[in-house]
Parts: sequence; structure tokens; C-alpha cells
Amino acid sequence: MTLNENDIKNVKSLIANSKNIAIITHFNPDADAVGSSIGLYLYLKAKRKNVNIIMPNPFPSFLDFFATDIPMILGYKETKKANDLLLKSDIIFCLDFNMIHRVGNANKDALLNSPATKILIDHHQLPEKHFNILFSNPNASSTTEVLAHFIKALSGKRAITFEMAQAIYIGICTDTGSFSYNCNNAETYALVSDLIAKGVKADMVHQEVYNTFSENRLRLLGYSIAEKLKVFPKYQAAYICLTKEELRQYHFQPGDTEGLVNYCLNLKGINFGCLITERDRIIRLSFRSKVNTFDVNQFARKYWDGGGHIMASGGTYQGKLEDVIIALEKQIKTLKDEI
Ligand code: 5GP
Ligand code: MN
Repeated sequence: MTLNENDIKNVKSLIANSKNIAIITHFNPDADAVGSSIGLYLYLKAKRKNVNIIMPNPFPSFLDFFATDIPMILGYKETKKANDLLLKSDIIFCLDFNMIHRVGNANKDALLNSPATKILIDHHQLPEKHFNILFSNPNASSTTEVLAHFIKALSGKRAITFEMAQAIYIGICTDTGSFSYNCNNAETYALVSDLIAKGVKADMVHQEVYNTFSENRLRLLGYSIAEKLKVFPKYQAAYICLTKEELRQYHFQPGDTEGLVNYCLNLKGINFGCLITERDRIIRLSFRSKVNTFDVNQFARKYWDGGGHIMASGGTYQGKLEDVIIALEKQIKTLKDEI
């Protein structure tokens, strides 16, 4: 992956001349969001920069093993502190999102109005216009993969320490579903090889990320598949819908439904999967596609105020769960030729 040389030169001098740097990622941060934030934080700290991570809300506990020691400001809780930092920063790195509103209501205005240079490092399609310098590659497996190339372009391969390598590996591993999609690319594996050479223990990371479920989370997974999976063989689609009450019964914690939508695609002949979860004031939708002819990024943008990638996207709806079900089933039936 080659990054624009002028942009790299420009960013080098911006970093050298900066006093305050902020790093922000999206609301409901996933492993790629957290991994890229920590990887970049460690790089800038090594350069002795004054840098703060603003995490809009807490990250899933399966990331505790590598993320608990890193200081973070919780945007939805320490809102004033986070917004003051955004407003007084010289540079804001925006990681793993490309629409300002994705940082959440508490911080989006401060991010938008900040006079800082906004640098995007990301792998989603169609970035908004609010970013000043973009390192955005929709063909990359993950934001951490783009970040690795960014650090290499600025300071060379040797600047990536073991801790940075681990953070980068976690983003690649999780955003590709353990190397099962978005990674038909020799360059990604060459990078992974370098990360392993830096000391990353892929087996240990896998154990921490995938084999640390709480009992409730595993039972919620079983319940979702046994009782809540709705399959439309004729339309090659399937979805799972979980109500607020069902999530409460299984003591839902952030991250507990991570990966659940993918089970829809385990079915032979099913190309479109969806997970609907009823949250406190909002309904969240996750979409997955098995065929690149059905673009769930476009689907999420068109119908569900969302976005993402061709084969993985998400969106939201404010209103009743019943209305979501009616609308989604109608969409599944009308889209049958595309799916
Ligand atoms: P997930 O289903 O894992 O929450 O999200 C899948 C992908 O879609 C991620 O890359 C995520 O960044 C993107 N995504 C999820 N929710 C939203 C949303 O509400 N808006 C946009 N623009 N992207 C989303
Ligand atoms: Mn990502």
C-alpha cells in the first residue's frame, strides 16, 4: 500500500510542530477502532508528543488484556474534558470512521468545529468532506493495516514496537473475521508476518479475543440461533432480532453480540444476514453479505442511515422494533434479484 508522499511529508511536519494531539474513534468501538487508537497513541508517545485518546464509550471487555493500561478519556462521560481537548488540539486523528456523527452525540459538534487539522486513517468507503488529510483505503483489511503503512511511511518499519504490532494485529484479525474475509491480499499477510516477527503471539491473541466469553454471552448466542434466527431461503436472507428484554435477560454487556450476525451466513444458500438489537433509545442493525454483488454499504446508507463496507455494514433506526421488522422483511423480498 503506497500512501501519498506529499501527505506523508505534510503530516511529518504537522506532527513535529504540534503541541497537542487528539485521537478519536467511533462510538461502540470495536477491536479495529481500539487497536488503531492504541497503536497510534504508542507511536506518538514514543515521539514524546502530548497525545490523548478520546474513546466515545467503553470498549468490549475482551480487549482488556491489551488496552487497560492505556489512558483514555470517555467522551460520553467526560464530555467537557473530551470536547475541550478536541477544540484545543493542533491535530485530531480520526480512526476507523469517516462520518463525523459516528463519534456520537456528545463529541460530534466539538470534532466538527475544532480548528485542528483532521487527519483520517480509515478503510471505509466514501469519506465525508470534513477531513483535511486522508489516508483512506477501502481495499485494506482494517484501519490498523492502514495505520501500519502510515507509521512505516513516517518512520520506517523499525518504529513499530511489539505493543504497536499487537494492537495492529488485533485490528486485522478481528476485521477479517480471523482471516476469513477482506484479506485475499498477499500484502496483508506480509504485514502479519512482520507483526509475528515483532513478537505478536497470534495464538494468545486468538484465545483472548474469541475464547473469553462470559457464560451469559455464550447462552445468548445459543438462544439467538436456536430461537431467534429467521431464515428466508427463497430470498437467500436470514436475520436475528433481539429485544431489549432478551438482552437484559442475558445481562448484555458491550461486545456480547459481536460476530453474532455472521452466523446467518453460515447457512448454505444464504447471502444476506442481519442482526437487529433493540438498545435504550435506538435500534441497531448490522448487515453482512457473502457476495460482492450485493453491497450492504449501499443498503445501509439507503435504508438505515448507516454505512460501512460492501460485505459488512451497520445502521440505526429511531422508532419501534416492529416497524424495523416490517421494513426489513419488505426490503428482503424486493431485493431478491440482487441478493
Ligand atoms: P458492525 O455490524 O460490526 O457493527 O459494523 C460493521 C461495519 O459497518 C463496521 O465497519 C462499521 O464501521 C460499519 N458501521 C456499523 N454501524 C454503522 C453506522 O451506524 N453508520 C456507519 N456509517 N457505519 C456503520
Ligand atoms: Mn475497521
